[in-house]
Amino acid sequence: MKLQDVHKEDFEREIFRLKKIDLDALIARGPFMVNVCPACKSKDAVHKFDKDGFHYLECDVCQTLFVSPVPTDEAKEWYLENSGYLRYWREQMPAEVRASRNKAVYSKRAQSLAAIADKYQVSFKRILEIGGGMGEMSVFIDQELTYDEYLIVEPQPITSQYPKVKIINSTIENLMLNEQVDLVLAYELIEHITDPDILLNIILSNLVPGGFFILSTPGSGGFDIKVLEEKARAIGYDHVSLYNVNSLKLLLERHGFEIVEISTPGTLDVQMVKQAYDKKEIRYDNIALNFLMESNEEYRDALQEYLKNNLLSSHLMCIARKSS
Ligand SMILES: [Zn+2]
Repeated sequence: MKLQDVHKEDFEREIFRLKKIDLDALIARGPFMVNVCPACKSKDAVHKFDKDGFHYLECDVCQTLFVSPVPTDEAKEWYLENSGYLRYWREQMPAEVRASRNKAVYSKRAQSLAAIADKYQVSFKRILEIGGGMGEMSVFIDQELTYDEYLIVEPQPITSQYPKVKIINSTIENLMLNEQVDLVLAYELIEHITDPDILLNIILSNLVPGGFFILSTPGSGGFDIKVLEEKARAIGYDHVSLYNVNSLKLLLERHGFEIVEISTPGTLDVQMVKQAYDKKEIRYDNIALNFLMESNEEYRDALQEYLKNNLLSSHLMCIARKSS
């Protein structure tokens, strides 16, 4: 996958402009609260960098990167309701960008689910996706798996056009399904959550014993985040908790999940650094980095492969199970 498949530049420019207006309003309004490490709850952390007026701290114990002070839930709700940037994102995303994102992202996820079902000899009959929009991914899963129901939790009274999708009108905090599911999906969600304890307990209580929980999130130990720091795409006001391989394990095990697999199947780290390098957004005094960025693409591809295979990409993916 190439970076250009996911983001169109004009659309991004307008998003950037609107986001700046929204963030200035959020910072002026507040309120904020002091935060602790979301993975291990330690209060000991060092300041790493600032972005858009937010401070990013790294936990001394488990190296999770988190925002503190962080907007309170009330401030976040206000932001979600009033953000011009999010409205633009929902309503104005060019059709070709949306189609390209859907195809590139959802089909890969669906294929990966089929591979997991095959590898662990399990069938996923009832699937719950948290943060799943209108259930768009079900179309892609239809092509890969046989399943009965695809549940989406959504506080707003919406309906879905997809036949197997069932919308559960509830907030996550109050979710209590009549029948437990055998797979919970949470793609690119946990980084938005200040305190993940409630979310993980809810997932656990709605999952059958032995059921799977699959999540992806930007990992703070990944190459592009290490090199680009606050200039990394994954560093943004709404990504308040960025785990690494070890701290994500620690968090899930603390809640009673067993880790089945943890991987970093990322394909974009080196391209993101190269893009920042070409735009002169990063310093040029690192000889090794200069060498790599000026070398042939095949060397950069080889580095990406190395990152992927050694848990060093910032695209973190975890397969966990509820203990039987
Ligand atoms: Zn920690």
